Amino acid sequence: MQSDIFHSQFKAAPYWWEAYKPASGELVDVPRETRVAIVGGGYAGLSAALELAKLGVDAVVFERGALGEGASTRNGGAVSGGVNIGKSFGGKPAQVDAERAADLLSDGHDAFSLVERLIAEEAIDCWWQKRGRFVGAWTPKHFAYQETRLGSLNDNAQSGAYMVARERQRDEIASDYYYGGMVVERSGSLHPALYYKGLLDACRRRGIAVCADAPANGVTRNGSGWRVATGRGETRAGDVVIATNGYTGTLTPSLRRRIVPVASHIIATEELPDELARSLIPKGRTLSDTKRVLCYYRMSPDGKRMVFGGRARFTQVDPLLSARVLYGYMTERFPQLRGVRITHGWTGNTAFTLDALPHMGESEGMHYALGCNGSGIAMMTYLGYQTARKIARAANYACAFDRAEFPDHPLYSGNPWFLPLVGSYYRLRDRVDRVLA
Ligand SMILES: Cc1cc2nc3c(=O)[nH]c(=O)nc-3n(C[C@H](O)[C@H](O)[C@H](O)COP(=O)(O)OP(=O)(O)OC[C@H]3O[C@@H](n4cnc5c(N)ncnc54)[C@H](O)[C@@H]3O)c2cc1C
Repeated sequence: MQSDIFHSQFKAAPYWWEAYKPASGELVDVPRETRVAIVGGGYAGLSAALELAKLGVDAVVFERGALGEGASTRNGGAVSGGVNIGKSFGGKPAQVDAERAADLLSDGHDAFSLVERLIAEEAIDCWWQKRGRFVGAWTPKHFAYQETRLGSLNDNAQSGAYMVARERQRDEIASDYYYGGMVVERSGSLHPALYYKGLLDACRRRGIAVCADAPANGVTRNGSGWRVATGRGETRAGDVVIATNGYTGTLTPSLRRRIVPVASHIIATEELPDELARSLIPKGRTLSDTKRVLCYYRMSPDGKRMVFGGRARFTQVDPLLSARVLYGYMTERFPQLRGVRITHGWTGNTAFTLDALPHMGESEGMHYALGCNGSGIAMMTYLGYQTARKIARAANYACAFDRAEFPDHPLYSGNPWFLPLVGSYYRLRDRVDRVLA
């Protein structure tokens, strides 16, 4: 039925890679010694290295593959200032008291400001646009729940959030799919791979060694410091930062047990006729929804294509399969896109934690910045930055995400075999919620 949805030039690769494709570049030698060794070369790792350099602390970044291979060049490019903090992969809010929620949101606000500041200071040309977000309510009950969040978002994260009733929804989206929803004005969008490239260029300008094709295979104690063995040689370091998020592996078994890697998938359409392209999201916002298995979407930075993402499956699957599922989700919301072809389809890993919160802290003496819970452009940039400031003793307050407790579960050792079952269950729950709405 959907046999003709793929463009003849379809690529199973991110649309963003047309502008910056992860590359190893000219390989930087692994230095024998550094003050801080950072494992993972995504937003978190680069922003940690950048802040350390600004504070006069020498750091090296180890990336196991090409630079930008992880989620940081694969995401949807929707930048949130806190609206998504503390949501599990089933859409359940984190269990925190009001005071802690306020602290977390306040840091979410700062995370958004940090992205804005880095883009300005480092002159990163990444289509940064502050046009807000619309979060569609899947049921009237969800709409009512969103309303209860307004006060906290506006008080603690200065989100500029307000509700849009179903009758006014077409101001936001050319669809009647939702029961109204919430606008969050203090949200933005960017081109994720160009933002990544901008951070990478900023690191290189400061002479930071960003070592591609350098998987960290072992981290062992060396007196008061560490020995980090990589595929291309060994480094002695005073501190180690683990910034591997949804790709956290056997290098750090104790952290792996605290992270559930959940796949997310995206498609990009071919260029649409001008009038159709302009009509779909009239205010140029990013969109997401309140479903357990949520979708998120936006127009491409040039406004010509729909870029549509969601958890078509909770695990990595063939992009041809996830693309078909996403196409179905997209045309449920926008029947006017039936017949449009897909040019790109791809997938990547997010990192969910068992308490649905991002975390920074120390494990077995190593620092970590992990657990984007699906929304990490601002948050992971920020946790990398905060970790750097902590190491350099430059932080003048404790980040709200820096807590000793980072929960695990006795029955989970890092192999998320249960995800397909969980995904099917949540999809069913979504359907039931809607039928009962
Ligand atoms: C499809 C998709 C859509 C998303 N959409 C959004 C969105 O719209 N908005 C938003 O805010 N967030 C979004 N996210 C989340 C966001 O992309 C991530 O939170 C963010 O990129 C994480 O950055 P990071 O640096 O922590 O991890 P990553 O960018 O994943 O980098 C981790 C790196 O660690 C490396 N690594 C792992 N093990 C080792 C090792 N042993 N040695 C060396 N290197 C190692 C990996 O190769 C990887 O490159 C999305 C994610 C995905 C996958």
